[in-house]
Amino acid sequence: MSNEVQLKVKDKFVSKYKAGFPQINKEAILNLDVLKDEGTIVSLVDEKNNFLGKGYYGRQNKGFGWILTQKETESIDQQFFVNKLRAAFDQRHAFYKDKDTTAFRVFNGEGDGIGGLTIEYYDGYYVINWYSHGIYCFKDLIIQSLTNLVDFKAIYEKKRFDVGGKYVEDDDFVSGERGQFPIIIKENGVNFAVYLNEGPMTGIFLDQRQVRKTIRDKYAKGKTVLNTFSYTGAFSVYAALGGAKETTSVDLANRSLPKTVEQFQANGIDENDHVIRVMDVFNYFKYAIKKNLSFDMVILDPPSFARSKKHTFSAAKDYVKLLEETIAITADKGIIVASTNSSGFGMDKFKGFIEKAFKNTNGQYKIIDTFSLPDDFKTIKQYKEGNYLKVVFIKKIK
Ligand code: SAH
Repeated sequence: MSNEVQLKVKDKFVSKYKAGFPQINKEAILNLDVLKDEGTIVSLVDEKNNFLGKGYYGRQNKGFGWILTQKETESIDQQFFVNKLRAAFDQRHAFYKDKDTTAFRVFNGEGDGIGGLTIEYYDGYYVINWYSHGIYCFKDLIIQSLTNLVDFKAIYEKKRFDVGGKYVEDDDFVSGERGQFPIIIKENGVNFAVYLNEGPMTGIFLDQRQVRKTIRDKYAKGKTVLNTFSYTGAFSVYAALGGAKETTSVDLANRSLPKTVEQFQANGIDENDHVIRVMDVFNYFKYAIKKNLSFDMVILDPPSFARSKKHTFSAAKDYVKLLEETIAITADKGIIVASTNSSGFGMDKFKGFIEKAFKNTNGQYKIIDTFSLPDDFKTIKQYKEGNYLKVVFIKKIK
């Protein structure tokens, strides 16, 4: 961690880094071969050795690490991490005070100045996500900083990098007093059972908070709702609370059934009034066509990439087709909530997919609401890829 190395930035990328681009990218660096151990502190310089920034080496998707400071004299030490975390927590003051929402993101990677690290808060519990072995090398400093700054019930961690073997479940406890899971958190006054020590997912994706609220408050009343890729059924719960006539949740993971029942029950909703199906969404579409089903609202929230027994789904390649199949089972004047968390394309391209799908099916539509990440998922303008969430509410005209 201490042997610092110098990375030379190609001329053509210098202005980008000067403007604050935070990621170390292969195509920008002349001498990537000097990188040996993840966690090494690196200095970026231009071809004339002028300082551009300082950060760490850590492999994360296509990136080779993150720049942490553009100040040459700033050290990456305990004080550095305390300052970054404190600034981030201060900005979430309103979230900490809100009694109706007790789970949110308190630190959002490069948006808060440290790429590769996110921290979420679940009613007194903190969950740290480490996205590379490189950032994990700073674990002691970061956990010490967190411990200095806040009171907590316990800290848990998720290692989202290759740990050389299988993900070890039930082993994410770091410090404090172990929780009894599920704990019930609140979001917009809705209850959620969450598990902080059961693999990489907790039961709720916090970035969809505003979308869920919008479904409940503006669109659900009296509607039949199909929730695809439903996981724990979070959208179904909100739709039910908003007065939906019936919800149907479809996910191919076996766990989704008991998890969805649990979330309904956590909110006093009788799960027997709703349909929960463990099946491939693409098979469900065929089934729905055969049975002549149509829905007033269809929610699409697929993963960026997924492989099932029969299908490989890639948001970038297959979203148009997913929309076409959805349009076929959406009632006229019905609403499609199209969501993607793919960082591979932006809102304009996503709207292009929608345009194409309606064109291919000779349909007409109107966009009635759009969302990207909420404020606690802070992003910076220098790194557009960080603002990955795109949600479009589409009204089918015919
Ligand atoms: N919409 C959810 C989050 C979706 S996570 C929420 O609001 O919480 C993605 C989910 O897609 C996972 O639960 C996974 O099991 C499911 N999935 C992936 N491929 C699928 C497919 N072909 N058919 C049905 N579900 C699928």
